[in-house]
Amino acid sequence: MRFYLGTHQPAWLARDLGVPLLVSHRRLAGRRSLPRASGPWALDSGGFTELSLHGRWRTDAVAYATAVRRYATEIGNLDWAAPRDWMTEGSVLARTGLSLSSHQRRTVTDYLRLRDLAPDLPFIPVLQGQSITDYHHCADLYERHGVDLATLPLVGVGSVCRRQHTAEVEAIVRALTARGYRLHTFGAKILGLDRYGDTITSSDSMSWSFSGRYVPGCSPTHRSESNCLGFALSWYRRVTQRLDSSPHTDTSSTSTVPQAERSDPCSTAKHPPGGSPAPAGPASATPSRPGGLSPAKRRPPPKRTPTTGRHHHRDRTQRPWTPKCC
Ligand SMILES: [Zn+2]
Repeated sequence: MRFYLGTHQPAWLARDLGVPLLVSHRRLAGRRSLPRASGPWALDSGGFTELSLHGRWRTDAVAYATAVRRYATEIGNLDWAAPRDWMTEGSVLARTGLSLSSHQRRTVTDYLRLRDLAPDLPFIPVLQGQSITDYHHCADLYERHGVDLATLPLVGVGSVCRRQHTAEVEAIVRALTARGYRLHTFGAKILGLDRYGDTITSSDSMSWSFSGRYVPGCSPTHRSESNCLGFALSWYRRVTQRLDSSPHTDTSSTSTVPQAERSDPCSTAKHPPGGSPAPAGPASATPSRPGGLSPAKRRPPPKRTPTTGRHHHRDRTQRPWTPKCC
């Protein structure tokens, strides 16, 4: 499993951190200059914040595709990009005033539109919902539009980030895996990854930033550790070591040797117990390519089993300073 470290800091892309990063479109949009990525990364759309704040997407599909093309070209090393998806948490539905099924239709429609506008860009379809039935329904919606999800290198699972019941997410993930999908769970809890990490292709988290808000800064310039690189890397290593020790998860394909950690002033020296497990296994800076998955990771889809038809959805966190996740 590839495990992406979520961050609000686009500048980290240029650092030789040795870990794949997840960065939001909201943090990159409008920047005159962009960093050149030294390693693999993925783009989150920032949909949760966009819809929570505005009740709609203010960026149309053409503008979003144009922005993603710029990121892919100027930043480089882009594994994949989320579409302008529509989360299904109750708070988001209340803000948009639309139904869950409407959010699902809009999510599917946007993926189809982006794929038509920019077939060369690595947009991934994202499943949205609340119940297993919802997620199956969303998957069926893609299939009815001719998208064979089981043949794609990656399918996102949204609206799972804020759930308290990891067993519920696990059931959703296993149901979708049974359909032959290679999944990325957006912001899944680490407890959940302990249980089903072996069944998914990738996940991400920036829960380190949330917890870092309550940790005193490691230097006079850090009021807290919510945006501290050293704190983040310590957390990342601790988590990947824990996942690697789990019989259900292996993140050995996820990280590279964190070069920057040795030179960063906020390195693990200041966050030793916080987590300094050695990076699990060598990982390489994956060349940018649609889907972001190396051939070795393209395993044949699991045998398809009958499903009842539901789908689920994903969620991210994109407040500039407030991690939305878990
Ligand atoms: Zn710090």
